[in-house]
Amino acid sequence: MLASSLNRSGVKNIAIIEHNPSIAMKIKISGGGKCNVTNTDVSADNYLGESAFVDSVLSRYTPSALLEFLKEKGVVPKIRSLGQYFCQKSADEVIGALQREIKDADFFLSYAICDLSLDRSGSYIVKTDKAEFRAKHLVVATGSPAYPQVGGSDIGLKLAQKMGHSVEAFAPVLVGWTVQKEQFWMKELSGISAYVSVDVGHKKLFGDLLFAHKGISGPAVLSASLYWKKGPVSLDFLPNSTLHEALQERKKQISTQLNLPKRLTKLLLESIGVEDKTLQKLSPQEWEKLSALKAYRMSPAGNFGLKKAEACRGGVKTCEIDASSMQSTIQENLYFIGEVVDVTGELGGYNFQWAFSSAVVCAAALKKKLLG
Ligand SMILES: Cc1cc2nc3c(=O)[nH]c(=O)nc-3n(C[C@H](O)[C@H](O)[C@H](O)COP(=O)(O)OP(=O)(O)OC[C@H]3O[C@@H](n4cnc5c(N)ncnc54)[C@H](O)[C@@H]3O)c2cc1C
Repeated sequence: MLASSLNRSGVKNIAIIEHNPSIAMKIKISGGGKCNVTNTDVSADNYLGESAFVDSVLSRYTPSALLEFLKEKGVVPKIRSLGQYFCQKSADEVIGALQREIKDADFFLSYAICDLSLDRSGSYIVKTDKAEFRAKHLVVATGSPAYPQVGGSDIGLKLAQKMGHSVEAFAPVLVGWTVQKEQFWMKELSGISAYVSVDVGHKKLFGDLLFAHKGISGPAVLSASLYWKKGPVSLDFLPNSTLHEALQERKKQISTQLNLPKRLTKLLLESIGVEDKTLQKLSPQEWEKLSALKAYRMSPAGNFGLKKAEACRGGVKTCEIDASSMQSTIQENLYFIGEVVDVTGELGGYNFQWAFSSAVVCAAALKKKLLG
């Protein structure tokens, strides 16, 4: 997006250095191959990061601007659910649209960046495994180490630190949780899903929870994982009703009234110590225990790790980046965009919107500097 924006505005002499043999691997595999490119409802509330900074960048290149740009290029993503825009055919539509705009740039593919320094004249020297590059202006867009199997790395933080920047260590997010002994029953439900809400800190995330071999996953958990460090979270298995709205018929068993997969209801009731019986036979203590259906507390053991994580929180601290240009406030002509910055979105297209917005903001600033 950065290179295509620069080319469109007439900036030339661009080198793109990438250690994969092809570009945009994360776009290619995103959204199950259909790239959830943005969302109808995007604001700093959907991100972990400094809100004024995030809002400032997003307001300069909004989801409508991104969708308009894609439309001009013949790509018309459609809303699938919860305001999430996906490509109609494949993520290649987005990659193609961007790549076609890059008319005047040199691609150095399969070049692994390993170091960065400044020469006496103030040019940046980027050292790779094959060659050294010199540039007056340098944009670090190396993402995060999430999904190392498609090239994710933490080189961006190393380069930033080398240039004197403060950083927040990367940690995997948008990732499933492993469970403690008390929740091992969840592993028996592998493959089953249910619509829930997850309370984590001051955030409540709605969506499907998917039971997995290793623990729990699915959109609600993935988004909640952005805000979780350690300690308890609370699951609401009846997010659209109160307990008494869900359980009304006195002569019917609990399991026949709850709008949840039967196996889940059975194991959930067992885990909270309530027998599956008719409502009229429930003691006040059992009613009390049933409140756990709306607030099931558990402390995840950990997460599924970087190889399964769709993003990382952490990155170059935003207090040392100018939101109007993405330029470092401590090194002139050095810029950071995308996931390498300490801003991470929930699941739902927020991370691409962030990557694209920050790229366009940076391109506009570079154009002004280079072409006036
Ligand atoms: C499986 C998966 C699915 C996802 N789905 C979505 C989705 O549907 N919607 C959404 O909004 N977000 C999604 N994301 C998150 C999104 O892909 C990232 O937030 C986004 O790609 C970040 O863009 P970026 O340009 O900052 O970094 P990247 O897209 O990661 O680009 C960084 C580039 O730098 C290269 N690089 C890294 N280290 C080096 C090095 N040492 N030398 C040379 N090159 C290097 C990498 O190979 C990579 O090509 C998904 C992520 C994953 C892993």
